[in-house]
Amino acid sequence: MPAFLARAPAAPRDHAACSGCSLCVLVCPMWRGSHDPRLTPEGLAKGLQSGATVAQLAGAIAACSLCGACDPVCPERIDLSGLIMDLRLRLANAQTPQPAVMAELSARLQQAAGAAAANAVSRSAPVLLPGPDLRGDAALLARVQALLGLTVFDDDGADIALALELGVEIPQQRLHAFLDSLRGHTIVATDGLLLRQLRRWLPGSQRMGLGPALSTRAAVRSNLAPSDLYVIEPRAFHGDYERMVGYYDRLQRETGCSLSLDLQRIAIPASSPGLPQRLGLAAGDDVQAKWILQGRKSARIVIESLADRAAFERVCDLPVVHLAELGEDPEMMKKDRHAFG
Ligand code: SF4
Ligand code: SF4
Repeated sequence: MPAFLARAPAAPRDHAACSGCSLCVLVCPMWRGSHDPRLTPEGLAKGLQSGATVAQLAGAIAACSLCGACDPVCPERIDLSGLIMDLRLRLANAQTPQPAVMAELSARLQQAAGAAAANAVSRSAPVLLPGPDLRGDAALLARVQALLGLTVFDDDGADIALALELGVEIPQQRLHAFLDSLRGHTIVATDGLLLRQLRRWLPGSQRMGLGPALSTRAAVRSNLAPSDLYVIEPRAFHGDYERMVGYYDRLQRETGCSLSLDLQRIAIPASSPGLPQRLGLAAGDDVQAKWILQGRKSARIVIESLADRAAFERVCDLPVVHLAELGEDPEMMKKDRHAFG
C-alpha cells in the first residue's frame, strides 16, 4: 500500500487563536488578486474577533476559492478553509431567495436522500470517484481506469462536493448513505475538497487524490521528465499537507520534474474561482497561472486536475497534458496491474 495513505488530522483551532502574523496572506489568491486586506484569511479572522457579522464578511467569504493554501502555513493551526466553509453555509442559509443554482442543488440533494443507494460494489474493491470533469471526458476516464484498475462509482458524491463548495446544507440521510457506500473501500477521488472532508468523515479509510494515485504508477512516472512542470491539485495537497509534502518531494527527486510549489512549499492554485465564478456570475482571471509560470523554463505542463488545463492554455503556448495521458506504455501498465488489490 502506498505510504501516503491516511492518518488522523491534528485538532484544529478557531479564529480566536489568530495572532495577526499575516503568513496566510502571503499564500492567499484572494490577496494576490485584490491586495485588499479584508479579502484574506487574516482579515476574516480579525473581523470575527472584532465581532463582525457574517453579512459584513460576505465579500471575503464569497471570494475564497477554498484552495486550502492558508491552512498549513498558519502557526496557530486554525482550520481556516473549514472556518470559511462554515461561514459560507451560514451566509447561504441567511440568503433569501437563494441563487437558482443553490436552490436546484438543494432539491437534488433532497431527492437523492430519498432514493435507493446507487453503488453496489463488493466491499474492499478499490473505487474511483471521478467527479463531473473526468466523467465528462470518456477517453481520459478510460485511460485512468486502465492505469489504476479501479471500479468507477456511479454515485461519486458530486452533489455533496458541490454543496461543500457553495455552502448548501447536505441532508444527513444523503450524506450517511454516501459514506456507508464508501466504507471498506480504498478511495481515489478527483475532488480535493471532497477528499479533505472524507478525511474527517471517514477517519480510518484509505483514500488519496487522483494525482498521487496516477503518479505512483510506473507507466506514468517513467514518462515524467526534468523539463516538466508538474502542477499539483492544491486542495488535496493542503488537505493532507504533512504526508503530501513528503510524497511530492520524493516524486521530484526521482523524476527531476519541477513542482508548482512556492512560499514554504504551498501548492499554488492555478486558478482561484470564488463563489461568484462558481455560480457563473463573474469571470475568473489568470493571475495564479501566471504566478506559477513566472521564471520557469519548462517544456511541458503536466496537470493532475482537468480544471487547470484551461488556465494554462490561456497564458502560455506550452503543451498541457493530464497525468493519465502520460501512461501509454503497455509493459509498464502490466507492471502496475493489481497495485490496488
Ligand atoms: S482557502 Fe485559499 S483563497 Fe481561501 S482564504 Fe485560504 S488561501 Fe485564501
Ligand atoms: S496565519 Fe493564522 S495566525 Fe497568522 S494571520 Fe493568518 S490566521 Fe492569523
